[in-house]
Amino acid sequence: MPGQTLHSAPAAVAPGLPPLTPAQLRYGILPKPTLEWTPEVERATAHLYEKVRTVIPAVEWPFFAPYVKAINELKAQRGAVILAHNYQTPEIFHCVADVVGDSLQLARLATKTDADIIVQCGVHFMAETSKLLNPGKTVLIPDSRAGCSLAASITGADVRLLKQRYPGVPVVTYVNSSADVKAETDICCTSSNAVKVVESLGVDRVIFLPDEYLGKYVATQTKVKLILWKGHCEVHERFTGAELRAYRDAEPGIQIIAHPECPPDVLAEADFTGSTAHMIDWVKTRQPKRVVMVTECSMADNVAAEAPNVEFVRPCNLCPHMKRITLPKILDSLLNMREEVLIDPAIAERARLPIERMIALAA
Ligand code: SF4
Repeated sequence: MPGQTLHSAPAAVAPGLPPLTPAQLRYGILPKPTLEWTPEVERATAHLYEKVRTVIPAVEWPFFAPYVKAINELKAQRGAVILAHNYQTPEIFHCVADVVGDSLQLARLATKTDADIIVQCGVHFMAETSKLLNPGKTVLIPDSRAGCSLAASITGADVRLLKQRYPGVPVVTYVNSSADVKAETDICCTSSNAVKVVESLGVDRVIFLPDEYLGKYVATQTKVKLILWKGHCEVHERFTGAELRAYRDAEPGIQIIAHPECPPDVLAEADFTGSTAHMIDWVKTRQPKRVVMVTECSMADNVAAEAPNVEFVRPCNLCPHMKRITLPKILDSLLNMREEVLIDPAIAERARLPIERMIALAA
């Protein structure tokens, strides 16, 4: 970007300000670019607006476009890659992300990037997973307060107590968990591969953490007995079977697809249950006329942008944690190299293993 250079020396810190993180010291801080809607910005972002025009009104694009242009230029200048979860908003998902997907796809692709800097547009446990798999790289999250009700429902100390109560029973943990919890885990899973992971252990009983509803769903697909924890996703637990029956009553032919983090009465109403990646594949392959997508509502926007012939009914439950990630915060992250994800090396060493076992199984 004209007039911008990477500082080779650490920036000075005024007395009283927090010390610079290793990433800020290593890569320096850049001046903020001009963020105006100009003919040049319009030209430079026109091809990106084409991707989202069905889900972002033209009147809103002048607010997004200057950030999109600045982020894409800065990303190239820094040699950074942006990973975005399926629940990110369309201007992030379609316009600045290099890699998109569900937790498993992002975890696998995080290991394949050559970039030295990873900006994780998702929640904190996802950024931790990227850091665990890329210990030598700088992993940034635009807002470290982007948490998750599932990840917050359990601690490493809770898992240690469970292991004392059920000695010798292996622990399978959903990736929606902290590094502290993963460090106490035998193997991780995602909603895409949970059944395969549980059955891969060759035992008749596992401790399955922390999502009770995902665990109940997995239990319907396998003979392995699951010892469950009462963690819930605050987005998916709000859906109800009655709500879905009302959609079906109003339009008998409508298709309903649901994420397995939903309660059992919701899944009982669904024509298809699957991870976000499987839901996307299902819609793109089946091309239903009208579909109710029972998951976080930005995902329906992202799929709608690529499936113009499908009409989406979006019972709109937003994840407040995912929505903490915005274009201005991504730009700030790249400019100031924050917020850097750092994990205690002793925990990281143990937390990496169950993720690597999961990835090896998926491969
Ligand atoms: S949608 Fe649910 S599981 Fe996903 S980050 Fe938000 S709270 Fe966590």
